[in-house]
Amino acid sequence: MAKKKIIGTCKLCLKPGQELQNSHIISEFFYKPIYENGRFQIFSSNTTNSSRIEQKGLREHLLCWSCEQKLGNWEKYVKELLFDRAPQGIDHGDRMEYPGVEYSQFKLFQMSLIWRLGITKHDRFSNVDLGRKHEDRLREMLDRSDPGEPYEYACFTEHVAYSIPEYGSVILPPTKGAKKFQGHPCYRTVLGGMVWCFFVSSHMAQFPKPEIFLSKSGVLPVWKESPSARKFVREWTAPIIAEHTTA
Ligand SMILES: [Zn+2]
Repeated sequence: MAKKKIIGTCKLCLKPGQELQNSHIISEFFYKPIYENGRFQIFSSNTTNSSRIEQKGLREHLLCWSCEQKLGNWEKYVKELLFDRAPQGIDHGDRMEYPGVEYSQFKLFQMSLIWRLGITKHDRFSNVDLGRKHEDRLREMLDRSDPGEPYEYACFTEHVAYSIPEYGSVILPPTKGAKKFQGHPCYRTVLGGMVWCFFVSSHMAQFPKPEIFLSKSGVLPVWKESPSARKFVREWTAPIIAEHTTA
């Protein structure tokens, strides 16, 4: 199949006249366990007939070649860390802590994920509206590879596939939390067996519990599965699973 070149302005570095790469919105490695089953499901929150089985990850022409490489390097780091190396965590009761994480690479990966979810035109992700200010600020930080402070565009992660391993292959597009978390708005999504909660707020310097985020010293806390996280995933998946089993 001949590939059509798409020429345009890179959404990240804003250079015009670039051959735009067909970038994944959600990093490809999150789809991997599902590809192996031959199909995966994306659960959409904004249509009534929300189930859809798709054969490959959603893509969009967003980035020039060099920005695609830059984001690809952050992704590669996180994929190897989470899926290939599967680090040994230290058990702290309510959470596991993973030391030795490269702060800059992991943080920039998290930021690039919520930024891509914010700028894509795919309906599946239309819940994510970062607003012009945060969209611009995230873009500028990513463009200069600046991970910022731990609380800036921070992401809280929680395991969700311990008791139901199938949740490891669920991808939920982000939904804005109905309740603010500690007074700050966040978007929740499920990827790779974890709930990811992205904070998009200008007032995070006052966040009361900064220790729940990746620290500059490279300690990544991942909370243990909670009843509320399980409930969140179950509420999304149950109607769709029921539809597929009765069909
Ligand atoms: Zn670019």
